[in-house]
Amino acid sequence: MSYDCDPTFLAEVRRYGKFDVTGCFNCGSCTLSCDLADDHASFPRRSTRQVLMGLRQVVNESLDPWICHDCGDCSKTCPRETEPRAAMMTLRRYLTSVYDWTGIASLINRSKAWHIGSLSFVAIVVFLLIVFYHLWAADMSLPDFKNPMPLEHMFPLITYFTLAVILFPFLILMTNAFRMYLLTVRRKEGSPSSLSRWLLEAKTFFLHFFTYKKMAECPTEKGRWTTHLALGLGCMVMLFLKVFALQWFQTDTLYPLYHPQRWIGYVATAFLIYGTVDILAGRIRKKREIYKDSDFSDWNFPVLLLATAVSGIVVHICRASGLELATHYAYAIHLIIAVPMLVVEMPFGKWTHMIYRPLALYFQSLKVMNLHYQPSSEEIPEYVA
Ligand code: SF4
Ligand code: SF4
Repeated sequence: MSYDCDPTFLAEVRRYGKFDVTGCFNCGSCTLSCDLADDHASFPRRSTRQVLMGLRQVVNESLDPWICHDCGDCSKTCPRETEPRAAMMTLRRYLTSVYDWTGIASLINRSKAWHIGSLSFVAIVVFLLIVFYHLWAADMSLPDFKNPMPLEHMFPLITYFTLAVILFPFLILMTNAFRMYLLTVRRKEGSPSSLSRWLLEAKTFFLHFFTYKKMAECPTEKGRWTTHLALGLGCMVMLFLKVFALQWFQTDTLYPLYHPQRWIGYVATAFLIYGTVDILAGRIRKKREIYKDSDFSDWNFPVLLLATAVSGIVVHICRASGLELATHYAYAIHLIIAVPMLVVEMPFGKWTHMIYRPLALYFQSLKVMNLHYQPSSEEIPEYVA
């Protein structure tokens, strides 16, 4: 198979973040230091060389940037200080944009102004929806905005709204994940593996999606696994509660304190706060290699997640204390923070890593399986046999 060399490719990748590998003299120290590099994935050197050579299609079809678990060992050992870890992160941002059919990921990952603008735009839309809802659907006038009233007037409309702002971006993310499959597996490998092999290997996706196993195996950044596991579980449980168990919100009073649903929510919130605070503290301190260099998207996602968790706690405390007016305003602020995070970050921003990384490991394991696969005599066409 022949590939075109695109001289504009390096400049384009650099628009997605740091990609300072022109000083690389190809010594291979980064590959030697990388625990994940093997015969099937000799990254990061392979990925960076592909970009330098302008092999756009090869990079677009590559899974290597996703299999990198961002430990930073390669950057520590590089004698030319070219920071291959940051280059791999930039490539992940670039690939997120390649998979996205809407073009929004490309805009927000290349431009801080677009990123802030998109989040602000959704926040303003949510604010206007809240005002219009109260003025017209709830038939209130502006002076009523100072009067305490229970939340019941929102039910069940708020359930449909919550479902829409979770499921719509999730659907976009799934279509982009399908495009990732088309690019990295279907187009590259031609005919897909048999269905039984797909199903058999699906365990790889679930294993890495739920356990972050690759991070757990990393000898350098052991603590990072706990943080990511807490964040991942916190996000998953919270989304599950919002999609499948929002009825708790639709009662006049909260469930009693001993109700398991309340405690599941509390534990998930604690996980979110622990994970986001740990990441933000690391990025502020800049002591560890992985936090030395932070892009805008590395900051805004944990900040938004933390703000969502904290504003959710405030809503809960106000409601449990019977402060109706305060609950209303706290809930409005909570929505103005949480909805932009869901709508922008889940399908286009940093959140996409949660799906793309385990998917890449799944696709990679299928490819390895295919390499070592010996077809049975029935599977070999007659003209080959
Ligand atoms: S950051 Fe870690 S996993 Fe990623 S390429 Fe470098 S050494 Fe390998
Ligand atoms: S360690 Fe640095 S100079 Fe050596 S191959 Fe890797 S990126 Fe290039």
